[in-house]
Amino acid sequence: MQENGTISIHTENIFPIIKKALYSDQEIFLRELVSNAIDATQKIKRLSSLGEYTGELGDLKVEVKLDKEAKTITISDYGIGMTAEEIKKYINQIAFSGATEFIEKYKDQDSKEIIGHFGLGFYSAFMVAKKVEIVSLSREEGAQAAHWECDGSTEFSIKEGTRDRRGTDIILHVMENEEEFLEEFRLKGILEKYCKFLPVPIFFGEDQINKTEPLWVQSPSELKDEDYLKFYKELYPFSEDPLFWIHLNVDFPFELTGILYFPKFKNDMELQKNKIQLYSRQVFITDEVKDIVPEFLMLLHGVIDSPDIPLNVSRSFLQSDSNVRKITGHITKKVADKLAELFKSDRKAYEEKWPNIGLFVKYGMITDDKFYDKVKDAALLKNTKGEFFTIKEYEEKIAPTQTDKDENKIILYTTDPGKQDAYIQSANRKGYDVTVFDEVIDSHFINTLETKFEKVSLKRVDSDVVDKLIDKDEKHESSLSEKETEKIKALFEKIIDDKNQTVQVEPMPVDETPVTITLPEFMRRMNDMAAAGGGPMGMMGQMPNSLTVSINANHELIGKILKAKSDDKKEKLAQHAYDLALLSQNMLTGSKLTGFINRSINLVN
Ligand code: ADP
Repeated sequence: MQENGTISIHTENIFPIIKKALYSDQEIFLRELVSNAIDATQKIKRLSSLGEYTGELGDLKVEVKLDKEAKTITISDYGIGMTAEEIKKYINQIAFSGATEFIEKYKDQDSKEIIGHFGLGFYSAFMVAKKVEIVSLSREEGAQAAHWECDGSTEFSIKEGTRDRRGTDIILHVMENEEEFLEEFRLKGILEKYCKFLPVPIFFGEDQINKTEPLWVQSPSELKDEDYLKFYKELYPFSEDPLFWIHLNVDFPFELTGILYFPKFKNDMELQKNKIQLYSRQVFITDEVKDIVPEFLMLLHGVIDSPDIPLNVSRSFLQSDSNVRKITGHITKKVADKLAELFKSDRKAYEEKWPNIGLFVKYGMITDDKFYDKVKDAALLKNTKGEFFTIKEYEEKIAPTQTDKDENKIILYTTDPGKQDAYIQSANRKGYDVTVFDEVIDSHFINTLETKFEKVSLKRVDSDVVDKLIDKDEKHESSLSEKETEKIKALFEKIIDDKNQTVQVEPMPVDETPVTITLPEFMRRMNDMAAAGGGPMGMMGQMPNSLTVSINANHELIGKILKAKSDDKKEKLAQHAYDLALLSQNMLTGSKLTGFINRSINLVN
């Protein structure tokens, strides 16, 4: 007996629309059909354990078969199966109402957004198949096998089928222009991408595709370090070993499992190619986790699996979903806790890892206030001597020596210990400590620290002469008279002849350099901001760097210049002192450098 019917639906020709909407992500049809087969298998297991099904379970597996000649792909399971009535109910009505809703909801939206997230399930088969058959034998005693057929129009037929084992075959007759899906490697690739960790064995030919118990569903107490490292390599072949990991295992107030790995971060913000993979009950969903984990956590690797993440809705919905927000908050907390624990349990080992994780931690602290609060006592600063301090420790360390006349604590930093060595040495002579902030992210991190700490500011070590870096209102006697000071100033202004450089004559300690060239902190920050395309200078572009040239009135050389016999000699000496300052700043190049070298040769000759 055969029954023909029309699937009740308001929208005509549903398939072209579904097909168009899902086109670029066609391959998910296999994920959907295999997931249905897994569900059907899990259901029979559950019924059996509840005593509601008393028959033999048999060898429970899912098989994907390819018949190139017949141009079919068959997905078979030994799950609960469906009676003809159930097929009509679940496949015709429910799935179609889902599809109608889908179209109603998303007809005006960019279809790419929802691709793969709606779970059109069974009907995604029509993206690649011109005809689909279902042959199913229900678990019910004495059930008659059913055979359903549909060619992608709204017409279907259902008749008696032949099948002796409980379960379902879904047979796809692949369309003419979709023959790539009849290639073995293509199908295998799709299965490996989406089904690698599904909980029921999946066979493609002789090969089992999946591991039914991936590491994250196992109990952490039974796992060794090797297991985690091995799993990392499975996820990201050819990658360097990670530094450490966190095994997530939550069942209240939401379900979440997973393993997050800390990779060795490079010193720049290069885009990471290894991404966190998102699963829902072991089905791979996506590695575009942008709206599920906070941005800074995207630098981590690993897997997150949660049935509570609503995957069959659009991205914009994900952002406002309270489950997703809770999950995000939870992951952030776990990561911060892990860092604090590592720091506490073995500070030395943690300090060794810091160069690799600092970038990540700072990025998190800049972008996420909650993370900042949780991790601030495990964030480290390093000084030029290679010693590490927490922010609080460092504040305490410098308080006695580096507090200025307004009670501000001044943290001195260098962005390049090699280039700024002369300045670092000047600061050290004064008894000041210098921290190293040499990562791309540090200019932002400095701003964050300044906003978080009251009465603490950061100054680059070459932003002023050392006496003024930390202004304690100290007065040094000048060994020059007012007239001599004027003379020296005029002399240097003459040889420098650059309106972007301001000459000033200052009484400084005798052991300070005779000439120091500095770029004020605020000026450099403005220019940094402009270079990054933001801030008040953004529209005006880069300002010329206004350098300050400070002459040490108390340096012997300056006295010597004043006493030189001829004007020519005075100018030569001044030029030389100025060039030396440029040289220590790496600013002496080209013909100026050649001139300096020639002059030096004459001097020593
Ligand atoms: P979803 O899986 O999202 O509920 P589908 O369109 O994929 O939607 O499937 C609709 C329903 O059809 C399922 O909920 C299930 O009851 C039934 N079904 C689909 N495939 C199978 C199968 N292989 N075995 C048993 N039942 C199935």
